[in-house]
Amino acid sequence: MKRKSNPKKLCRQEEIGIRVLTGTVFDIRRFSIHDGPGIRTTVFMKGCPLECQWCHNPEGKSRMKELMVRLSRCICCGVCEETCPQGAVSRPGNVIKIDREKCNLCGLCAENCYAETLELVGYEITEAELIDQLQKDQVFYDQSGGGVTFSGGEPMLQVRFLTSMLETCQRMNIPTVVDTSGYASWSSFEAVRAYTDLFLYDLKVIDDSLHRKYTGVSNDRILHNLVKLSRTGHKIIVRMPVIPGVNDDRKNILEAGSFLSRLPALEYLELLAYHTIGTEKYKGLDQAYILKDLNPPLEENMLEIVQTLEDFGLQVKYGGS
Ligand code: SF4
Ligand code: SF4
Repeated sequence: MKRKSNPKKLCRQEEIGIRVLTGTVFDIRRFSIHDGPGIRTTVFMKGCPLECQWCHNPEGKSRMKELMVRLSRCICCGVCEETCPQGAVSRPGNVIKIDREKCNLCGLCAENCYAETLELVGYEITEAELIDQLQKDQVFYDQSGGGVTFSGGEPMLQVRFLTSMLETCQRMNIPTVVDTSGYASWSSFEAVRAYTDLFLYDLKVIDDSLHRKYTGVSNDRILHNLVKLSRTGHKIIVRMPVIPGVNDDRKNILEAGSFLSRLPALEYLELLAYHTIGTEKYKGLDQAYILKDLNPPLEENMLEIVQTLEDFGLQVKYGGS
């Protein structure tokens, strides 16, 4: 569920001058079945402290609004070029080009693009607005054991809004999942933990120098937080992307298996095979995609990795397994 503009309706608190917490999101996806149990609404929060080279949601990295072009949808009508008050749009050879120095993110081109080729990504949402949206699907959550998943980007970056939302959801009997990179202070985990039913916790590379190379940050606090969280007995599913040439080597798989098998509590480990669906989005944001020529892992390699990890006594899920 995308939103092009933010038609701001004042809630009761705003009307009487109380400052209302808002979050910055870039998508709200209903009927999701891959981000926790049952049928869920996934709220993608904008902004992430990591720079994972394989990220398939590049529009979630920056906390700022961005104009994204989905060129494959363009019907070459030229309305965007005529509409832009800054002269920031050109169409050499019918290919949309945005001059990002000139663009002030007013969103007019996106509002007038019939084919939804242009999208102003990122908007503020209040807790009341988000709860309104979630409640529409309460019947599906109840029947399927689903609920809401806060993902990103990194939802823990907006910890005040996140904590408040989680608390309200639990009060309204909407089960809660937080999908995190783990790169946050332990005090942030303490804040959200009380209102979170399940954590989806990403694990990428165990070797710290490789983690820095491929994500831009150390994994020190990520691993420490995971151990601490596990010691609390909280429900955790660890999710590990498998990126050929980055983290699918035997050394990393053995180190991951050894680390995870020593955690006091873990529901299971889920492997996510690398895919290339983010490629068009990088182009549409004029961002470099370092791994653009990388192919997804072979099925036989995935099955071998599953077996290696299961040999540590871990329950491993991958695809239909
Ligand atoms: S308005 Fe949309 S569909 Fe028309 S040329 Fe611009 S981007 Fe393409
Ligand atoms: S967002 Fe506004 S300034 Fe930027 S390209 Fe579109 S119309 Fe022009």
